[in-house]
Amino acid sequence: MSRIYLDYNATTPLRVTARAAMEQGFSLLGNASSIHTNGRNVRQHIEQARQKLADFFQRPAADVVFTSGATEANNLVINGMKGAIIASAIEHDSVLKARPGITLCPVNQDGVIELDQLETLLQTQKPELVSVMAANNETGVVQPLADITKLCRQYSCAFHVDAVQAIGKMPIDWSQLNIDYLSLSAHKIGGPSGIGALIINPAKALKAQMLGGGQERYYRAGTENLLGILGFAAALEAVHQDDWLVIAGLRDRLEQKLKTLDVGVEIFGHRALRLPNTTTIRMPGVKNNLQVMDFDLNGFAVSAGSACSSGKVSRSHVLAAMGIDQEICDQSIRVSLGWQTTAEEIDQFYSCWVRLLQRTQPHIAKRMAS
Ligand code: PMP
Repeated sequence: MSRIYLDYNATTPLRVTARAAMEQGFSLLGNASSIHTNGRNVRQHIEQARQKLADFFQRPAADVVFTSGATEANNLVINGMKGAIIASAIEHDSVLKARPGITLCPVNQDGVIELDQLETLLQTQKPELVSVMAANNETGVVQPLADITKLCRQYSCAFHVDAVQAIGKMPIDWSQLNIDYLSLSAHKIGGPSGIGALIINPAKALKAQMLGGGQERYYRAGTENLLGILGFAAALEAVHQDDWLVIAGLRDRLEQKLKTLDVGVEIFGHRALRLPNTTTIRMPGVKNNLQVMDFDLNGFAVSAGSACSSGKVSRSHVLAAMGIDQEICDQSIRVSLGWQTTAEEIDQFYSCWVRLLQRTQPHIAKRMAS
């Protein structure tokens, strides 16, 4: 049975061009810090890749710091600060758990940050940094970055954006948004895992966390991940090929069909602006771990939005922050589409969803039949 992958927000297939760039890298021999010809050749490849990232965001190449992924990029920002930090309550754990004492700014029931409350926190806490993601990994809800930028400017506070899920799917205009730090991850855009970047406003330097070498302008000691960097840059160059309007159409069609069943399906964050590929769906009465297992047995990869790194399903802090009851959170799964998703796959997923509901909730199935 061929499997159907609907978990692009967890990780994505490696793009052909990223694979090719990495394969080329296998034959490069040299440490980029060595001054001999081999080393300088590798250095050149790394700097070309850095330039590609810089061009994408229209920033100088010197502002791009390669890291092992967005978790490290987020940690670098959060722990690079001495002062108070405000983060939205729906940030990824790599922000929220990077250090204790971060003040949380609530979101509304659509999953959008409460700007009034953010302003009050800026007045009372006088933070050094505000950290808000461009779009949420569980619901896809897009945050009002332009409004947050204005507040950060007004209160002379630095602004960090975790753009991991947004890259390629929505425009991020650095100059208009006045962002100071931007976190990226390659494996969410068709690059390899284990490589990411932090783009840094040089006027707001950070304290480095990884010490012991001068690489990445002392921000991140350690021999560079050459293959990862090559794959990352190639993947980023390819994101403009994706047709997110088509993907949004598939997602919307799935949601529409599920809603038409009239069995109490809920879609979280649907009133807000969302990424085109993400939907978080409640199947009434059916625990999400059972759903994930059943879909898996039927060949579909989806996730409980809250699947944590240990592989267990834990409570979603994102849905909880939106005021959704625990019981309802526990009945919700995340389906995230990508550039290889087809209409047939979505139709098959829909049929499987209906079959699972009918099997586990016969009283609802009866209602559907009548
Ligand atoms: N931030 C967000 C919004 C994410 O979705 C993820 C990955 N789940 C990360 C950060 C961490 O990225 P990485 O896997 O590169 O450490």
